[in-house]
Parts: sequence; structure tokens; C-alpha cells
Amino acid sequence: MTSQHANRPLPDAFLAQMQARFGERFSVASAVREHHGTDESPYPPMLPDAVVQATSIEDVQLVARLCHTHAVPLIPYGAGSSLEGHILAVRGGVSLDLSNMNRVLEVNAADMTVTVEPGVTRKQLNEHIRDTGLFFPIDPGADASLGGMCATRASGTNAVRYGTMRENVRALKVVTADGSVVKTGTHARKSSAGYDLTSLFTGSEGTLGIIVEATVKLYPQPESISAAICNFPDLESAVQSVIEIMQLGLPVGRVEFMDTWAVRATNAYSKMDLVESPLLLFEFHGSAGGVDEQAEAVREVTASNGGMDFQWARLPEERSRLWAARHNAYFAGIQLRPGCRASTTDVCVPVSQLAKCVTETADDLDAASFPYTILGHVGDGNFHVMMLLDPDSSEEWEESERLNQRLVERALSMRGTCTGEHGIGLHKMRFMLAEHGPESLALMHALKHTLDPRGILNPGKMLPPLAS
Ligand SMILES: Cc1cc2nc3c(=O)[nH]c(=O)nc-3n(C[C@H](O)[C@H](O)[C@H](O)COP(=O)(O)OP(=O)(O)OC[C@H]3O[C@@H](n4cnc5c(N)ncnc54)[C@H](O)[C@@H]3O)c2cc1C
Repeated sequence: MTSQHANRPLPDAFLAQMQARFGERFSVASAVREHHGTDESPYPPMLPDAVVQATSIEDVQLVARLCHTHAVPLIPYGAGSSLEGHILAVRGGVSLDLSNMNRVLEVNAADMTVTVEPGVTRKQLNEHIRDTGLFFPIDPGADASLGGMCATRASGTNAVRYGTMRENVRALKVVTADGSVVKTGTHARKSSAGYDLTSLFTGSEGTLGIIVEATVKLYPQPESISAAICNFPDLESAVQSVIEIMQLGLPVGRVEFMDTWAVRATNAYSKMDLVESPLLLFEFHGSAGGVDEQAEAVREVTASNGGMDFQWARLPEERSRLWAARHNAYFAGIQLRPGCRASTTDVCVPVSQLAKCVTETADDLDAASFPYTILGHVGDGNFHVMMLLDPDSSEEWEESERLNQRLVERALSMRGTCTGEHGIGLHKMRFMLAEHGPESLALMHALKHTLDPRGILNPGKMLPPLAS
């Protein structure tokens, strides 16, 4: 696993100015640095030299200016839930914690938008707007911050119906590396005015600027919701059902796949009694009649593919229990091997290729020397593999990296991507060239250089060096 580079100590003048401005909000305490340099990725902790808590745009501007002047690495930090080593301080520097910038600034119910500070979390936002009859659908398994979700172009179980952050961010306010403030986008539903800077920053993983405000879309809470689960004799018939459901254009709210191991782990962790075979978990949103029609059409498709026991969860508490269990599937999976370190990876392929990609991946993993689970937001062609590794075994780490490589090569050969939602961080950096090619990668480097000429923003991430 990658180790931390030898870091340049923070310059004295920088330290003095940060301490003078931020007082107790600037910390070099090891516990604080450890918290900000440890994540859910398979990498060991890589600590920043200091952590600063921002509470305003002016704070962020000042930190950026000082880091820019003194060439100090600056790593934006939201909720720290990213999975691919995004927040690790590979070159030391300052972790800029935005979690205290957590005000909901404006709910615009008429236009169905909300403007938030970056530290607002998705659960906090939905709690805040509950009485408006609207909701924000993007739901990564963790209670991530909106700033972090913009920065990773996150999605989750609802993306099949409502899209990912890419489709749901209308406008941003961004502090650039030199401390300037840039506004992107508008509150209008569409625009063809110039380059789409909102999309440029959405998914830039803290490497191009610091998102200090985001305006995102909201949706009416569905009049009626129902959920169902269906078991399958094998993985292929489950995934084939999803392909047909998508090809028929059935507007499912959510469709999630769990392999047998993921179901077993969920039963143990969430005290459920799901049948331990490959499973699809559905949710339907719409009018009462519409929901029943969608569900019936889906039931027919699953039955024609060998689906068994199509079971309803109509009551809100049954539904919540099922989806809470699904959202806890990551933590459930880890319990299959107590003390393990999880290496989680996701790929996304065109839906027509999904069954082939998932079955070949499962065949590969069946031969692995460690346990694994497969979960998927399969309606999007996106699935996740979690490999449960002995943290002290370099052999298992190397084996998991070989399997990860084969998985990515498989997805790319099917015209897919090395990550559908988790992002690049450190772990997927080596696949950027294969996915994008040298010309696109050079263009990305040029953009990075224009926006961050001193290379201070989350350095050592996302873009692999260009071949000389
Ligand atoms: C159990 C579990 C389940 C998950 N399930 C999903 C899932 O279903 N779908 C999914 O997409 N992800 C999932 N994730 C991953 C994670 O939740 C997302 O990547 C999330 O978007 C990260 O948000 P965060 O606030 O935690 O960001 P952080 O981890 O703090 O940061 C992530 C990256 O964004 C940058 N960043 C953070 N805030 C800002 C900002 N304001 N401006 C600029 N850059 C910033 C950081 O520098 C870093 O590069 C899951 C994670 C866990 C632990």
C-alpha cells in the first residue's frame, strides 16, 4: 500500500498567520490530524500537518491565499466518507474542514431548489426541508456532505430515477487556488451560456477549487411509495431482469442488487431473515395506481427470468427497515471478516453489458483467497465489489489489486468506466490513462494548471503524471 511522501514542514510564517487568524480552529494536535488523515479506503492513514476549521467563505479564501503563497498542500474535507483515498494527505499540508459551514441558505420551493453551504449533510438537508413536501434524492450510503458529494459527483440508490450529482447541481460558488471566488451556473432549469463550469467543478475531487456554496435540485415527495424484494436462483437471472426492466423503460425509483454473501452479511448485521440467494430490492414512486402498475410490470419481468418470492413491503416501517439494511450493507459486509480492511471498488458499464460484467467478476472473485460481496445500483449499470482483506497480508492486498485491475479492464473493454460514483482519489488514478487516453489526460492537466498553477489543491490525486 502507498506510503506517505516525505513532507516539507509547514513554513513558520504560514503557521504564524494561520494561528493568528484561526486560533483554536487551527490545530496541529495528532488526534485531530489522525481523524482527518484516516478514511474508509484500503490505504493506511496519511496525516495532514495541520487542520483548519472554516466557518465562512472569507476563511476559505484566506486559507487558499496563504497556501497558494507558501505552496502548502490544501485538502478540502467534507465528511471524510470517500472510499478511494481522496482525503489522504499524501504530501502533508493542511486539511480544510468545511463541516462547520453547514447552513441551509435558501429553500426555494417554487423553483424546487435549495442553496446550501458545503458542510450540510444529505440527511440534515432532508430533515430541514421535510415540511416543504420536497426532498433531495441523492443518497450515498454515508451521511456525506453536499460539498463532498458535488466534489465526487456522487450518486446512490435513487440515481436510476433522479440522476447523479451531475444532473442535480444547478450552480456553485467556488474558491479557487489563489483565493478568488467564482460563481458558476444559474438557478434556471437550463442554460446554453458558455462553458459549463458547474460540471467542471462537479467531480473535481478538491483538485480545482473549494466548493463553498451549492444550489441543487429538489423533487416532490412521491404521493405513493412501495417496495418489493425478489430472489433469484443465480446472479445472471437477477441482472438480466434489470436489463429488461431498463430496456422496457419502467420508471423504477430504485433497483439494487445484492449477491448471496451481501444478503448473508445483511441478515446477520441488521437482524433480517432475507432468503440467502441473489436478490433485487425495488422501490416504486408515483401515484397509488401508477406504483401498482409499475410493480406488476416488474414482477412479470422478474418471473420470466426465474425470480422467486416477489414480496411486498408496503408499510413505511417495513420499507425503511429494508432500505436501512441496504444502506448498512457496507458495514454488514465488513463484519463477515472481523478485523479486516475493506478494499471497495466500483465500475459502471452500459446496461446491456451488465450481466456479463457481473458474472465474469463473480467468477474471478470466487477463486480469491479472501471473502467478498457484490452490491449494485444495477439500474445504472453500476456495481460495487468489496474485498475483505487481512490488513497485515501484503499477498492479499496484491491479489485484490490484480482483481481490481481485471475488473476495470473488463469494464473499459465493455465501453464502461473505472468508477461510476466513488471517484478516482488515489486508488483509481492508474486507470485514468486507459480510460481517457493521452490527449484527454493532457487536457485535464492543462485545466488543472490553469486553475491551480502551484499545484496546491489536493495534490497527488486524480491525475497521474503525464508520460514525458
Ligand atoms: C458506507 C458507505 C457507503 C457509500 N455509498 C456510496 C454510494 O452509494 N454512492 C456514492 O457516490 N458514494 C458512496 N460512498 C462514498 C462517499 O460517501 C461519497 O464519495 C461522498 O460523496 C463523499 O462525501 P464527503 O462529504 O464524505 O467527502 P470527503 O470524503 O470529505 O471528500 C471527498 C473528496 O471531495 C473533496 N471535497 C470535499 N468537500 C469539498 C468541497 N467543499 N469543495 C471541494 N472539494 C471537496 C475532498 O478533498 C475529497 O477529494 C459511500 C461511502 C461509505 C463509507
